[in-house]
Amino acid sequence: MISTFFNKIYKIELPIPFPLKTTNVFLIDEPPRTLIDTGIKTDASFETLEKNLKSLGRSFASIERILITHGHIDHYGLAKKISTLSGASLYIHPKEYGRIRSLIHSFGPLKTILLRNGVPENLVHQAIRFIESAQKMADPLDEAFFLEDGDFIPFDSMTLKTIHCPGHSSGLICFFWQEQKTLFTGDHLLKEISPNPVLNVPESRSPLRYPGLKEYLSSLKKVADLEVSLLLPGHGEVIDDPKGLIQQMIQHHQQRMDQILSLLGLEGKTPYEIALDLFPGVPPFEIFLGISEVLAHLEILKEEGKVHVKEKDEKNYYVLNH
Ligand SMILES: [Zn+2]
Ligand SMILES: [Zn+2]
Repeated sequence: MISTFFNKIYKIELPIPFPLKTTNVFLIDEPPRTLIDTGIKTDASFETLEKNLKSLGRSFASIERILITHGHIDHYGLAKKISTLSGASLYIHPKEYGRIRSLIHSFGPLKTILLRNGVPENLVHQAIRFIESAQKMADPLDEAFFLEDGDFIPFDSMTLKTIHCPGHSSGLICFFWQEQKTLFTGDHLLKEISPNPVLNVPESRSPLRYPGLKEYLSSLKKVADLEVSLLLPGHGEVIDDPKGLIQQMIQHHQQRMDQILSLLGLEGKTPYEIALDLFPGVPPFEIFLGISEVLAHLEILKEEGKVHVKEKDEKNYYVLNH
């Protein structure tokens, strides 16, 4: 399905084999012809994009530039394949490039973190198998140009500005079209889904834990300060009430914080136990998103002196402070 904005921006939905079901890719049909994100590397996604480009009278060969909002496979998976077919140049924030230039081969650090946070061993192995199969749905990047906060991206008759919005991932960038008060948000802001900071798959190059939620909340304020009336997100429907959505997000995280505090009790709980309390009956894949969300909140609560960590049997229990 294609929706059109300002006669030159096309929102194309591509299938993904995850609960969100689709990723949005945007074609900016003006020289240099540009794609924002590419979707995942599956045959279904590739063919859907090809078919949609064709219906607009375009082809992969006509793409000149690819902007990547962030390094999650559903956003950059096809980037290398499309740039090979078209010669398009790739643009990404350096923090994301560092994470996706190669495959992860050692899962030791991730295993340690998950076990420490109370995840049962069989689920840890399931998580690792999931990541291994997910890696096949994206090609690592070789060459790319870097975009930093404030960089301008020129077109024939418009300009996008790079807005660095760390949180959901550390190098996520949004693209701001000031004249039309329009922002391409990647996964920074989505309608009806809280894009919680995802636990980074740790490897030697990156810190083991990334305090995403604090940065995410200040990135929300950064967008609230822009004069923006339309958000074009990486998944789902467009958003025409940015301030309302941001207010909702901030409230959601405050409520989650209170909820987690009320669940802790005097004995303390592991992040896995808290995630099970918060999201009872959810499938294993989603429990991992739940654990990253819980950890992100606990990190802030610890910093604020409201909880502390107690170690027992090589597991971390979070306990209320008095
Ligand atoms: Zn993402
Ligand atoms: Zn996404």
